[in-house]
Amino acid sequence: MSPGLLIVVSGPAGVGKGTVVRRLTERNRDIVFSVSATSRTPRQGEVDGKNYYFISREKFEDMIKNDQLIEWVEYCNNYYGTPKELVFREIENGNIVLLEIEVEGAINIKKKYPDCVLCFILPPDFEELENRLRGRGTETEDAVRGRLARAKEELQLISKYDYLIINDNVEDAAERFKCVILAEKMKTARNKSLIDKYQNI
Ligand code: 5GP
Repeated sequence: MSPGLLIVVSGPAGVGKGTVVRRLTERNRDIVFSVSATSRTPRQGEVDGKNYYFISREKFEDMIKNDQLIEWVEYCNNYYGTPKELVFREIENGNIVLLEIEVEGAINIKKKYPDCVLCFILPPDFEELENRLRGRGTETEDAVRGRLARAKEELQLISKYDYLIINDNVEDAAERFKCVILAEKMKTARNKSLIDKYQNI
C-alpha cells in the first residue's frame, strides 16, 4: 500500500464541489489538488494550469496515445482526464491527492486502485441544484438542461461511493470532508508500520 492517500470527489455540476475542495486544500497543505486536462474552453475567471490544463482535442488525443493519463472520459462533448505524473509523485511522497472527477472516471479509478476513497458531494435537494446551476449564469439554457440530465444519471450511481457529503453550506461540507480524510488516514489497514511497531515491543 502506498504511503499517501488518493481521494476522489464527484458531484453534480453546480453542487459547489470546487468551492468545498478549494476550502479544504487552502487550509491543509498536505492535500494536493490534481489539475485535470480538458479540451473544453475556459470559463470566465478560470486559469490554465490552476483550474485545468486547457488543451486542444488533438493534444488530448496525443496524451491518451502516450499513456499519460490515469483515466479519461468524454463528458458533455469535451474530453477530461487525470495526468499521471503528479498523482503518482505526490502519493509516493506521502501526500493526500484529491481528484475532482465525474462518476465514470471515479468508478474506473476505484477498479484500478481499490484503496482510494470515493466521496460524493450532494446538494441538500435537487431543486437547490437547479437554482445554483441557473444562478451561476455561465452556461446556455441548453447546456444547463444537459448538465441537469447528467446529474440525474450520476445520482443513480452514488451507492458505489464510500462517503456522501451534503453541501448545505461550504464551511460544514469542508469540515465533514476533512473528517472523512482523517478517519481514512487512521484506518488500521493504512497503518501497517504502527502495527509492526507495537507488535514488536
Ligand atoms: P466542468 O466542465 O464543470 O469543469 O467539469 C465537468 C465534469 O468533469 C465535472 O463533473 C468534473 O468533476 C469532471 N472532471 C473534471 N476533470 C476530470 C478528469 O480528469 N476526469 C474525469 N473523469 N472527469 C473530470
